[in-house]
Amino acid sequence: MSPLIDRHGRTKRKLRISLTDRCNFRCTYCMPEHPDWLPRSSLLDRGEVVRLAGLFVDSGIDQIRLTGGEPLLRRDLLECVREIGALRERGLRRLSMTTNASRIAPKARELVAAGIDDFNVSLDAIDPDTFRRLTLREIAPVLDGIDALTDAGANIKLNAVVIRGDNEKDIVPLLEWAMARGIPLRYIEYMPLDAPGHWKRDAVVSEADMLAAIGVSHRVEHQPRSSDPATPYLVDGHYPLGIISTVSNPFCSTCDRLRLTATGELFTCLFSPLGTPLGARMREGVSDEVLGEQVRRAVWLKDAGYAARPGPVDRPVTMHAMGG
Ligand code: SAM
Ligand code: SF4
Repeated sequence: MSPLIDRHGRTKRKLRISLTDRCNFRCTYCMPEHPDWLPRSSLLDRGEVVRLAGLFVDSGIDQIRLTGGEPLLRRDLLECVREIGALRERGLRRLSMTTNASRIAPKARELVAAGIDDFNVSLDAIDPDTFRRLTLREIAPVLDGIDALTDAGANIKLNAVVIRGDNEKDIVPLLEWAMARGIPLRYIEYMPLDAPGHWKRDAVVSEADMLAAIGVSHRVEHQPRSSDPATPYLVDGHYPLGIISTVSNPFCSTCDRLRLTATGELFTCLFSPLGTPLGARMREGVSDEVLGEQVRRAVWLKDAGYAARPGPVDRPVTMHAMGG
């Protein structure tokens, strides 16, 4: 089958699957304080998730990232990992997970054994008070989760969203904490994907601002870019740092990603106002062939992206429901 390609010439290789919109954290930049959860009956069951994942793998997707909400809240997570992992036989090359890690400690070894190749762990600050202000939760279980993943021999990267007035003072302390442990870190510019009216342009700490803060005490060298959304840097000649600058320097022209929500809605861009309801069509009984056609059509029509239409999107779906 020909690869999934959009009208701007970008081939899709990566799919993020949200396993649930539920989360045990309340990160202020990700969801409203009192979120409206999706009706439980609308969430895809495991068979439905695996069927859609298979359809994408058959269409050329070779990297899948499981996300949410918080994927560890999914009771059948291990089975999901094993069954999606079995798509390696059909062309899947990499299976990853993004998690807040607060509930991962007891499951870390099993998840690695079940086939997760790498984990992105969200850790926005190393100072407990700053962490609590941003996530409305405690840092200790997250640090335990990171230790458990390290003990299990997992590949880990840290992700941190930086927000002015909240955690920009933590940029250097968190970097030094991660450097001391040899865990790669990626800073992410704050994107307009939270509760309507919450995001402000002034609250974005740009890539340039982050580099200036780090440059006071560390040597930072720019590295050649790959297809990864993060601009790579080398700190003090040895430590890999990435910065995802969607707002100040969008990477839309090379975007190779798609997103599937927990109800099976396909969003071809984080900033798309509308999704394609594959889950609902599947429940109406349509064939894989028809679903595949709908995927191809939606991908072909993918917008240019944030670069072409910056700012908040008018839609009720915030980051926790989209699957970051
Ligand atoms: N619960 C998991 C976690 O926190 O890692 C997975 C889902 S979360 C939505 C995925 C990623 O989206 C996290 O790294 C989070 O920091 C990021 N994110 C959420 N809202 C964001 C925003 N407004 N701007 C930038 N990144 C955001
Ligand atoms: Fe939950 Fe992750 Fe969103 Fe935080 S960023 S509220 S942990 S989904």
